[in-house]
Amino acid sequence: MLHAEIEHLRELGLIGHDVLGSGRTLSLDIFTSPGGYILGEETALIECMEGHRGEPRNKPPFPGVYGLWGKPTLMNSVETFADVPIIASRGADWWKDQGTGDSTGLKFFAVSGHVEKPGVYCVPMGTSIRDLIDLAGGVAGGAELDCVQPGGASSNFLGVEHLDTPLDFGTLAEAGSMLGSGALVVIAKGTDTLAAATNVLRFFRNESCGKCVPCRVGSTKAHELLTDTLQAGGELSDERRERLRELETVMRKTSICGLGQVAMGPVVSVLDQRGDGAAEPPE
Ligand code: SF4
Repeated sequence: MLHAEIEHLRELGLIGHDVLGSGRTLSLDIFTSPGGYILGEETALIECMEGHRGEPRNKPPFPGVYGLWGKPTLMNSVETFADVPIIASRGADWWKDQGTGDSTGLKFFAVSGHVEKPGVYCVPMGTSIRDLIDLAGGVAGGAELDCVQPGGASSNFLGVEHLDTPLDFGTLAEAGSMLGSGALVVIAKGTDTLAAATNVLRFFRNESCGKCVPCRVGSTKAHELLTDTLQAGGELSDERRERLRELETVMRKTSICGLGQVAMGPVVSVLDQRGDGAAEPPE
């Protein structure tokens, strides 16, 4: 469909030549990502577009300064492009009236896990976690809520005391998590949250591009510790708790990109919720 639309624009003379009188040809092309979670990282996608392996670049320089083929490059998500027609038709003031504080506009949330009606919901920024779960039909089977991941796999778990937290950038960060990709995962009471967090870590271990050692080795090591613990009944020894927190600190501070920096966050947030030694390990 997109290829056909681009061809249509070309036939109408709207692209493919110097339409703006700037001396530059306006062109529109589609690059299909070869796939992989890490290609959501902008510089990894740029590397792919240049024909290299999909690995993130060291930043700075950021793409706005040095991007595709070394030129300043703006990277936007599909959601941003999807917002443009609404803003153009309803006006910036209408858009800004949606949401709260610095977090304005509408936001898509993918609600999954233990809810009656999993799906994608479009709500104003700042909608509370409770209201979004209600919109998705409540916790499945009327069960009690245990915790949520408000912003996708990489966001820290939040307990029921955060149910009235508005889903926006600042407030979720203050609560110890993040808005991330806007994928709310709902977890009902009775779920083994350490196993859920281990599952998340397994995903990151598998999706690590392997470029930097802390992420590649750290995620594997932590996953081994956790699966071994789960197979032995789920009780973490003091030594393993300390080792997991050390790995989280090292990966957060030394990994090149966001994947490695946040991979251990959900695990540590579960340790915090369980009261498994909240002390920060030595720097
Ligand atoms: S943090 Fe992980 S995913 Fe990111 S560059 Fe390093 S190895 Fe690759």
